[in-house]
Amino acid sequence: MSFNRRKFLGTSVAASATLAAPMSYAAGHGKPHVVVVGGGAGGATAARYIANDSNGDIAVTLIEPTRTYYTCFFSNLYLGGFKEIEDIGHSYGGLAASGVNVVHDWAVGVDRDAKTVSLAGGGEVSYDKLILSPGIDFVDGAVEGWDLSAQNAMPHAYKAGSQTELLKAQLMAMPEGGTFAMVAPPNPYRCPPGPYERVSMVAHYLKENNPTAKIIVADPKEKFSKMGLFQEGWANHYEGMIDWIGADFGGGNVSVDPSAMTVTIDGEVTNVDVCNVIPAMKAGRIADLAGVTDGNWAPVNAIDMSTKADADVYVLGDSSQQGDMPKSGFSANSQAKVCANAVRGALTGSRVFPAKFSNTCWSLINTNDGVKVGATYEATDEKIAKVDGFISATGETAEVRQATYEESEGWYSGITADMFG
Ligand code: FAD
Repeated sequence: MSFNRRKFLGTSVAASATLAAPMSYAAGHGKPHVVVVGGGAGGATAARYIANDSNGDIAVTLIEPTRTYYTCFFSNLYLGGFKEIEDIGHSYGGLAASGVNVVHDWAVGVDRDAKTVSLAGGGEVSYDKLILSPGIDFVDGAVEGWDLSAQNAMPHAYKAGSQTELLKAQLMAMPEGGTFAMVAPPNPYRCPPGPYERVSMVAHYLKENNPTAKIIVADPKEKFSKMGLFQEGWANHYEGMIDWIGADFGGGNVSVDPSAMTVTIDGEVTNVDVCNVIPAMKAGRIADLAGVTDGNWAPVNAIDMSTKADADVYVLGDSSQQGDMPKSGFSANSQAKVCANAVRGALTGSRVFPAKFSNTCWSLINTNDGVKVGATYEATDEKIAKVDGFISATGETAEVRQATYEESEGWYSGITADMFG
């Protein structure tokens, strides 16, 4: 695979940036300058760690369009009625207080020769090191009949916030005995257990509020993360409510019609009341515009998350192609700490520790019925490689499941404090 070292700019926005007489953000006033694009699990953590640990020796700018970041993690619990939307919203004031220069704008282009990032608002920011953590975008045409213009009729709710609230409103408005459909994504995608935790939380809501309603899942995969645990939980709590149609039964042969509100699975047309379409994913577009992806994901070096294309450009979290870690908030946060340590070392000569990573993905199946899967990882020349792992067992006691759920609550408080201060 080869990458061209040249200028990449989104054409339409590049034109507006030129017209708007771009303002140049002062880099670091003589200090090295790190620019972070994307203030989510990877980007917010990296920005905060570099700013906090460098004692003011490195200037850090974070570019993030939203003023409130809604975590995808625990957004399914909002659908299930276990959280309010405010519980999963976080502002950037803590990062600003840590010394990060927070710029609320979209990055729309990266010139890797000039080492600048252009902004939708017309400005330009120069960098010594650039960290991209823009999350995911959807692959065009991945689900026949669906594109972004259909996201109000058939929400994805795979970037949290207004989409999540919309899906919840549609769930609440379902007619008695109605049908909720989900089109599940192919691998690799953000949060492997996420769609199935969502099915559980939707089932929990419906069991309490609309018990004769049904859930259909069309899935292009033959198996999925924590499958045995979810299937056990669905049988225990939601018997007869969930129809999961895997690849073996035509679950991958699916199309939707958002105006007719129908889903066609392996030739069979079903009228649905709510349809949650989760299309195939790829790296956030700015990674592509920076020319550091292979068309889908950004290949990175495990030791520091620098891209294979450019040693001064790093990609974290969902957008990266790093090896064995799942695309999760925990993974992005863990990768961000390794990257922050390496970037600080490269810019100031501070000590760089060996790259170690960890991840746990918790899922809630029903009230106090939490399960988890996790692993530790290390950097090899080739990839981030799994060292050892663990997973909840089927048939665990209610006490163990409750303790697992409580552990996930503690993790949520911890990771959001780690990201936002
Ligand atoms: P994000 O956290 O999505 O951050 C990307 C940020 O970049 C966004 O704020 C976006 O606004 C910004 N951005 C994008 N493009 C630009 C641009 N051009 N310019 C400036 N900013 C830009 N993970 C877990 O660990 N545990 C869980 O329990 C869990 N549950 C989940 C449940 C669901 C339903 C979903 C959908 C995901 C879940 N995840 C979970 C996965 C987790 O949310 C993601 O893996 C994680 O957020 C990835 O971090 P990131 O930094 O790569 O991207």
